Amino acid sequence: MTTVDLPLLPLGRGTDPLSERGVECPGDLPAPSDPDLVARAQAAKEKLGDKLFVLGHHYQRDEVIQFADVTGDSFKLARDAAARPDAEYIVFCGVHFMAESADILTGPEQKVVLPDLAAGCSMADMARLAQVEKAWDALAAAGVQDQVVPVTYMNSSAAIKAFCGRNGGVVCTSSNAEVALEWAFAQKGPDTKVLFLPDQHLGRNTAVLELGHSLDQCVVWNPFKADGGLTAEELADARMILWKGHCSVHGRFSPDVIDELRAKVPDLNVLVHPECQHEVVLKADLVGSTEFIIKTIEAAPAGSSWAIGTELNLVQRLANAHPDKNIMFLDRNVCYCSTMNRIDLPHLVWALENLVEGRVVNQIEVDPQTEAEALVALERMLALPGKSHKD
Ligand code: SF4
Repeated sequence: MTTVDLPLLPLGRGTDPLSERGVECPGDLPAPSDPDLVARAQAAKEKLGDKLFVLGHHYQRDEVIQFADVTGDSFKLARDAAARPDAEYIVFCGVHFMAESADILTGPEQKVVLPDLAAGCSMADMARLAQVEKAWDALAAAGVQDQVVPVTYMNSSAAIKAFCGRNGGVVCTSSNAEVALEWAFAQKGPDTKVLFLPDQHLGRNTAVLELGHSLDQCVVWNPFKADGGLTAEELADARMILWKGHCSVHGRFSPDVIDELRAKVPDLNVLVHPECQHEVVLKADLVGSTEFIIKTIEAAPAGSSWAIGTELNLVQRLANAHPDKNIMFLDRNVCYCSTMNRIDLPHLVWALENLVEGRVVNQIEVDPQTEAEALVALERMLALPGKSHKD
């Protein structure tokens, strides 16, 4: 395989004339959106006052995040929404599964709005309810279903959370995956197995690096193969049955970039999200959720060097906020989350101005039965002891 020797560019510093990366525009660049839109968003927010609560996920664009009342990861934002029962409208600048979780955790009279319905999540889409039900039946046919506890990552549809709720399972986040898995493995005695949905990497990294399972005890369930592509023997021997899903953004980071950067940057610290591949996590110095990544950079000494493996909007924002630290992106290419970036200022203004007119557009409503069952799995998570040190 030929490797292309692309220079690794610290964000916003330097250009690569042979590619589109790091392109600089001399002089003053106009605002990324029509400046009128900024004024219109401000005016709509003022008119709506306390009736409105805008949530902004860390991976959102700057032009949108400036209007967020709070920022955070998906779980923190859902909790923030639940803590504002007086807000009639919750506008969620994030992706579809997050808005669903906010709808589940808020009151029936509160309306959750997603400014662009095309803002889905490719990882959540990799585990459809029909596929998971089929896998569950196959586990029964293989004689192991009684030993299996389903655990789903927050980044999954409400239907998958409900599946976990009605089958004795739990939801987890990247902050508490370790305690959630400990809880799950204690549910059915020493032979308990976990079906981990939908992110194989978070499941594998947590089971192997935090709980001490071996890679051999982790098998991957491929929903596009008969019986998940696994033999009855492989299922019988497994402790972790990992759904074949991944994040299109975090799955891109590769160990060879870490080697290359370490050779070039003295005393480099590599900080990655646990949705990254196992080989990447093994080579990193620190692993944790987006909240952990932010806190780590805030606490880092001036002059320290960091290569960060998470979504580029957040890495760029951290680099801008900490010019005294050498912050770089852990990939040769640009990789924004394309669905997160669907939420732009025009869509936000459109949603807010409709609310001012009394029209609720793009409301995300989870049906009552799904909501009740998903809430069971979410409440099991909320009852878990403490949070991981990586919160
Ligand atoms: S960053 Fe990954 S997990 Fe998050 S919304 Fe985008 S595709 Fe989904």
